[in-house]
Amino acid sequence: MEVKTRAFKGKANETLADPVLQKSLENVYSGFHLRRIQAGGATPGWDEQRDRARAIKAHTIANLDYYLDMLVRNVEAKGGKVHFADDGKEAARFVVDLARSRGVKTVIKSKSMVSEEIGLNDLLEAESIEPVETDLGEYIIQLARETPYHIIAPAIHKTPEQVAELLAAKSGGPKKTTAKEMTAVARTLLRDAFQRADMGVTGVNFAVAETGSITLVTNEGNGRMCTSAPRIHVALMGMEKVVPSMADLSAFLRILIRSATGQRISAYVSVVNGPRAAGDEDGPEEFHLVIVDNNRSRLLKDAALRESLYCIRCGACMNACPVYRKVGGHSYGWVYPGPIGAVVSPVMSGLKEGKALPFASSLCGACREVCPVRIDIPSMLLHLRSELAEGADRSQRSAGVVDRASFRLWRFGMSGRGRFDLGARLVRFVLWPLSRRGWTGWLPFPLGGWTSTRRFKVPAGRSFVARWRNRQGGA
Ligand code: SF4
Repeated sequence: MEVKTRAFKGKANETLADPVLQKSLENVYSGFHLRRIQAGGATPGWDEQRDRARAIKAHTIANLDYYLDMLVRNVEAKGGKVHFADDGKEAARFVVDLARSRGVKTVIKSKSMVSEEIGLNDLLEAESIEPVETDLGEYIIQLARETPYHIIAPAIHKTPEQVAELLAAKSGGPKKTTAKEMTAVARTLLRDAFQRADMGVTGVNFAVAETGSITLVTNEGNGRMCTSAPRIHVALMGMEKVVPSMADLSAFLRILIRSATGQRISAYVSVVNGPRAAGDEDGPEEFHLVIVDNNRSRLLKDAALRESLYCIRCGACMNACPVYRKVGGHSYGWVYPGPIGAVVSPVMSGLKEGKALPFASSLCGACREVCPVRIDIPSMLLHLRSELAEGADRSQRSAGVVDRASFRLWRFGMSGRGRFDLGARLVRFVLWPLSRRGWTGWLPFPLGGWTSTRRFKVPAGRSFVARWRNRQGGA
């Protein structure tokens, strides 16, 4: 998938000025955030369950090699094949080569953020293999030739009218207006793809190391069709998706589904155990599990960012984030939007490229508060800001000479009482005449960025300390 993180500011401004998108974004709050609050409140021991899930994640990520090894052995014991891919290109190439070697013409896909990450659809199309998204939201996005807006609700920015037009154009039939009619059109179109496809590609919500099983959580049943109807099933997973045991899986299912949609359980939870075994009535002839790194190792080796790998992709941080709810998913410019996207996208796709993202936050902490595994996103954003300003890797730094010099001067001035008083007097001396002429609403570079959206504050005539001393009779 093309990385457009550099365009954050422009895209965010476009979204802010678009009343249709702003209206659609209101659904994020009412449709997801409020439901999650209700679901958590109605779950006995909710906070303890979150603590437990976090502890399992911390243990698993700290012993990732051990659990991945266990997973591989158990998948292979059930007749599946496991492939490791260092990056997105390698993962996508593997799937396409497999499809070509098996004469596959059509691939049906269940929702997979990793497949977005590796740009699988583009590569399949380039090789004349037809990819068909079967999750309704993903299907709409595919028809619109766009990327997902939200990791749980990819088409949340589309109005019913826009969806009706897309489906009518694809089916060649009249425009349907009700949700029921539109779903019927999509079902007819997708049924044909399900029958033609020779390969199903899915994501993985969790992979259970002790049994070699993969788990899919869906509400439309399309995941189950993708894993059982075609003769080949390929599952794509980020390497952090492994959990140790079935008991751990149940802990995660409970918090994932409630945090994502506010449901107690989703309509379908599928546990897939390799290809069809002797005596099975259905299931694929081949099962391939592709475990993708794609710069997750970078997150793993950075102690300050490692806990971003605890993420179970529930989307709750996006729904809670006041920035996401105004700038929308496309502004972030890569697969993962919102607060967790502002952490992982710059690291996975290039820190300098995504330098705007760590600053796309007010650091209010809403994301940390709602995260079911209590990921401390604000601290990681601060860490990335500091890396961009003065990190060890100079090639990644984005702060210019003026920025760095200004902040050094600031730090020098703030770290001594006498220097602070002197600095405040100096600033007052410079700004007072400007403010009397009304010029503090527009200051020249390098302060122009500040005054483009607000007036520069002029310090009071006498400092607080001076006035306090005066009140205390000079003491
Ligand atoms: S960071 Fe937490 S809240 Fe955000 S998607 Fe991941 S698990 Fe969900």
